[in-house]
Amino acid sequence: MYDDTIAAISTAVGDAGIGIVRISGPRALPLLQRVLRAVGRDATPDGANAAPDPAARCAYVPVPVQRVLLAVLQAGARLALPGEFTMRAYLNGRVDLAQAEAVADVIRARTERGLSLAMKGLSGQLSHQVRSARQRLLRVLAYLEATVDFSEDDIPPEDVAGPLTAVLETLDGLLATADQGIISRQGVRGAILGRPNAGKSSLLNALLRTDRAIVTEIPGTTRDTLEEYANFSGVPVCLVDTAGIGESEDLVERLGIERSRRALAEADLCLLVVDASAPLEQADLEIASSLADKPAIILANKSDLPPAISHEEIERLVGGVRVVPTSAVTTAGLDELRQAVLEAIFSGGVVQSDELLVSSPRHNEALSRAGSHLRDALGSIETGLPADCTASDVRLAVDALGEITGETATDDLLQTIFSHFCVGK
Ligand code: GDP
Repeated sequence: MYDDTIAAISTAVGDAGIGIVRISGPRALPLLQRVLRAVGRDATPDGANAAPDPAARCAYVPVPVQRVLLAVLQAGARLALPGEFTMRAYLNGRVDLAQAEAVADVIRARTERGLSLAMKGLSGQLSHQVRSARQRLLRVLAYLEATVDFSEDDIPPEDVAGPLTAVLETLDGLLATADQGIISRQGVRGAILGRPNAGKSSLLNALLRTDRAIVTEIPGTTRDTLEEYANFSGVPVCLVDTAGIGESEDLVERLGIERSRRALAEADLCLLVVDASAPLEQADLEIASSLADKPAIILANKSDLPPAISHEEIERLVGGVRVVPTSAVTTAGLDELRQAVLEAIFSGGVVQSDELLVSSPRHNEALSRAGSHLRDALGSIETGLPADCTASDVRLAVDALGEITGETATDDLLQTIFSHFCVGK
């Protein structure tokens, strides 16, 4: 499957000055020569006989990039599958699995912080740590297996618990960064809720500093949910503006309300907007009670107008929830709101340092599985179980770590990972 020659457009679709058709495989170069000859050039790329690595400028082809791709396909290449170029780079040993995954993260990064995390993944920092932990376990495993196979007299005793504990500490250290890493990479969903006219759309606009949402003075006109990513100190926060969660006779509005309920269910955090310049209404109480146990922040909006309700009254809407006075008109309070959001999702502030963060749920899962096998292994040593029990736990930990860098990744896992890539990467 991997010795045929594949091609795809690897630049974004649309009008552009430059388009790239990527070709990979053993017959890439002869195939390219055939295409170039077909367009009327006696094209022998510079370095045609050399390694295909250096870029060779060979012909100017003034046709749309799709036509070039078509010519390449007609000359015998096959259209590449999603992620197939990266998968080949992985299978050829040019990058490991975690680095290959980082390629997709670089493409999808929504903030500078996300990009810098992805670049770290690409550079192999995590891979390096995981691989050296795995090597260390493999040495312990070799010893344990030897003690099973040979008599104790033939093998000098070695410390097993020590290295296992040290590796476990490394894994725990990495795992401790995962919450923050995963949130920084994927972002969080924040639902903006509140009764009609409280100022939800205006706040969304103010937070995004764009006019994406439609603002009107007629209550209940935000009928659909709007989603936009805002950048809160490098953390992508997907803000979902919802129609009010109330009851409505109007069918379109009822559909909007249904979507709001869904948005609420899917949200990691709720921003409850209250119009502080008007008395509370039944709708405010109903929406407040629908939040259940979701992390929430109350926005006492329209703080630029004379208040009609006290801070305490607003606080009582939802017990134990922070109230931030805001104004979508003057943008007062928005910085405090951004800070409050970060504190709510990270429960204790964002680590701004350059430390390595585990940002993939898959890596997190494999690391914690490896950790629990190591705990089992240490437990079996403590209870004095035979060495092969300890060995089998260490083996499982070794395999779990190997899934991260790819040494023990199954075909299914590879297919799943690369199918999430786009064609041309
Ligand atoms: P939504 O129905 O909750 O989305 O509310 P909108 O964002 O459409 O706002 C309803 C009305 O309140 C509009 O006329 C806004 O200009 C106004 N409004 C929104 N936020 C503020 C604010 O902070 N201060 C003042 N003075 N008016 C606001």
